[in-house]
Amino acid sequence: MTLSLNTAAAAQQPDWPDGELVERARRTLSDLPGLTTEDEIDSLREVLAAAALGEALVLQGGDCAERFADAEPGTVRRKLDHLQGVASVLRSGAELPVVPIGRIAGQYAKPRSTSHEELPDGRSLPSYRGDAVNDIAADPVLRIPDPDRLLTAYHSARAVLDTMRSSWIGRPAAERVYAAHELLLLPYEEPLVRSGSMGKFAASAHFGWVGERTRDVGGAHVRLAESVQNPIGVKIGPAVTPVEVVELVHKLNPDRIPGRLTLIVRMGASEVGRRLPLLVEEVARHAGPVIWLSDPMHGNTSRTSGGVKTRFLPAVLEEVTTFVRVLRERGQWPAGLHLELTPDPVTECVDGPEEFEGRLAFPDYRSVCDPRLNPAQAAQVVDAFLLAAR
Ligand code: PEP
Ligand code: MN
Repeated sequence: MTLSLNTAAAAQQPDWPDGELVERARRTLSDLPGLTTEDEIDSLREVLAAAALGEALVLQGGDCAERFADAEPGTVRRKLDHLQGVASVLRSGAELPVVPIGRIAGQYAKPRSTSHEELPDGRSLPSYRGDAVNDIAADPVLRIPDPDRLLTAYHSARAVLDTMRSSWIGRPAAERVYAAHELLLLPYEEPLVRSGSMGKFAASAHFGWVGERTRDVGGAHVRLAESVQNPIGVKIGPAVTPVEVVELVHKLNPDRIPGRLTLIVRMGASEVGRRLPLLVEEVARHAGPVIWLSDPMHGNTSRTSGGVKTRFLPAVLEEVTTFVRVLRERGQWPAGLHLELTPDPVTECVDGPEEFEGRLAFPDYRSVCDPRLNPAQAAQVVDAFLLAAR
């Protein structure tokens, strides 16, 4: 018997080698306590309502792919302090409350545009899909999806949330960092949907988003997001149509609750100015309040001739500036940013192509997935947002 009632097509699911083990992991997860509580989710919903109404800003940020090894308290505290620091720059610059939300405590699964990666030596390996699925090591056996990793994801997320909650003690509720991740792996997400006093909620996170590759209006991920009461997001890339966006908003926020739905725009610097205006106009006309965030990372990814993924800071800054301008010109609220960032002084994003083919290119590249902003680069992105919003 399957515990899933969600029969719509599910994109981007790993090719699990053993269905019975996946069912076992599902049953175990459904018997474990939820990771987040309805009360915590309610307080996030409340602060996000202010952002939907133009009275607050949102800063979402963290790793592209979290590692299980990073669930230990020291690493988690450094990430939380950094996100708080970036949020406080935004807060003092904008003179508004800022809601910090980490890509944390569950960002263990990745959608991939190709099922395999080609190694420089000519071998082909199944793609790394996040620690919840397989191992980053370049070993074909370790790349086989392992359903037991769904349980390690749960226990790692639990450890991260314990550290997060201890950081809340003695702080005003407005300074909490909440936990968010992409709602991707259905055998992880579905058994963690729980019933509360107000209906069902995703007890895997406070906030969950549906990615660019899984946001099909008729698909399983949108159906999952529709079935829960958490504040949720949807990534929208350059190929989305105004009709699709209006359908998504009607489906995911039919009661027009401020703060329920966030649209995370990731079009790329060269597309956003052309494509975003009509979407903003149509949503304002037909679909009611949403939180508009700029993800200036995912539409601005480049590869070096050696295959290293990077992002050019000028493109990232330009997308942010254009996003703010487009929203402002239409009387809508540019509510903030969704960033891939790290407290570590990494060299993953760079200033331009001249920087990355040289001998000293990427002396400190640690990401196992997409390139992140280091602290100085994140500060530049926040400055660009504030300058454009002034
Ligand atoms: C991500 O946020 O890491 C991601 C895969 O984004 P997108 O769905 O926008 O491509
Ligand atoms: Mn990413």
